[in-house]
Amino acid sequence: MKIAIIGAGYVGLVSGACFAELGHQVICVDNDKDKINALKKLKIPIYEPGLEELVKRNHQHGRLSFTSDIASAVKASLVIFIAVGTPPKENGEADLTGIESVARSIARAMDSYRLIVEKSTVPVETGKWVKHTIEINKKKKVSFDVASNPEFLREGQAIKDFMQPDRIVVGVESKKAEELVRELYGALGAPLLVTDIKSAELIKHACNSFLAMKISFINAVASVCELAGADVERVAEGMGMDKRIGRSFLNAGIGFGGFCLPKDLDAFVSISEKLGYNFSLLKEVKKINESKKLEFIKKIEDNLWNIKEKTIAVLGLAFKPDTDDMRFAPSIDIIEKLQSDGAKIRAFDPQATHKAKGLFSGVKFCKDAYEAAKGSDCMIIVTEWSEFKELDFKKLKRLLKQPLIIDGRNIYDPNKLKGLGFKYVSIGR
Ligand code: NAD
Repeated sequence: MKIAIIGAGYVGLVSGACFAELGHQVICVDNDKDKINALKKLKIPIYEPGLEELVKRNHQHGRLSFTSDIASAVKASLVIFIAVGTPPKENGEADLTGIESVARSIARAMDSYRLIVEKSTVPVETGKWVKHTIEINKKKKVSFDVASNPEFLREGQAIKDFMQPDRIVVGVESKKAEELVRELYGALGAPLLVTDIKSAELIKHACNSFLAMKISFINAVASVCELAGADVERVAEGMGMDKRIGRSFLNAGIGFGGFCLPKDLDAFVSISEKLGYNFSLLKEVKKINESKKLEFIKKIEDNLWNIKEKTIAVLGLAFKPDTDDMRFAPSIDIIEKLQSDGAKIRAFDPQATHKAKGLFSGVKFCKDAYEAAKGSDCMIIVTEWSEFKELDFKKLKRLLKQPLIIDGRNIYDPNKLKGLGFKYVSIGR
């Protein structure tokens, strides 16, 4: 099938490469000309395990191409996915101007039937507006369908998530649209849930908000554990063994960040309010998430006495491991607060340094954890990259001014670090 994907970011590029791998003919479109020029030279603008190889292979086989000309891509394709960003506005609502502008461009270029699919995460009722925008902007009397097909991939394992999804959700208004989507994904053999468009849009916001709620729940439990002298890791284990609850998203720490959970939570609260429902539960989820960063700073203060003039080695900058994505990463707020308190920062991240460089000033970016630790008053863990679990602690002890590790992700065994002579502070235990 001939497909155009508008927006060649984390979602668009991964989806494009994966659809091509399934045998479809894919054109990825982006209005960022530098990105498209880089992609034409097979330079991948993001770090996502396995993506480079997938893009190269499908490009070589002639199934994957790139352009910044949306009209030509629309003319050449039957199905058009919208995968542009839907960033948060100041008031928490999703900014849908990118979606509207793409819908307008699609409408102007359509010369026969097209299926337009929302893949970006959008508030309920966006489908109605996309349909209206296409209707009033189309130049020819052509029919079209709009569908919602929210994407559930996780950065860091995006290809696996796309190729082996738990389920595919699709919201449609016609049998024709449903059949086209079934054909597109048929090769995956994954369960496909067909709903109306509004329900599909809502499923995505409900999922992300629920996952955010799970994280804030365990983080609140972690605070109680600290007060009671219990161990949140054991509590999470015990909770997770209950099949109704499950162990995933019960990792206590400094809270969630990234381009999805924080903004989707805000957008869900906003759209609910617009529709007349005060989703106070989710407001509390956000409040708990924000408080975890402040509690983490307090732990640093409690263990360093004064922060001013102290040097802090920060391990991990990306919002989570296996990605270079810095959007809404907890490291941003944490480093800015430490700097405003007068700390000097030596930071290391295995993949995100190039993106982080544009976000911070006065941070010394290091080539590895040891360089960051050298001469620092303590080391803090902000992102749980697996390579941080395997560090040479004897070497670290020699390099740090004092053997102090404050771990915002609970990646170490407290007894082991204590045995090695470290003062080790973690979350909820
Ligand atoms: P991104 O910023 O990485 O990619 C968006 C791309 O769209 C950018 O390359 C940008 O240049 C391009 N773009 C913006 N406006 C455009 C326009 N008018 N015409 C053409 N291109 C345009 O964002 P992302 O992380 O891929 O997220 C895209 C959407 O998918 C968002 O709604 C997000 O919430 C959702 N989503 C993201 C993830 C994730 O893990 N990143 C997972 C599921 C869903």
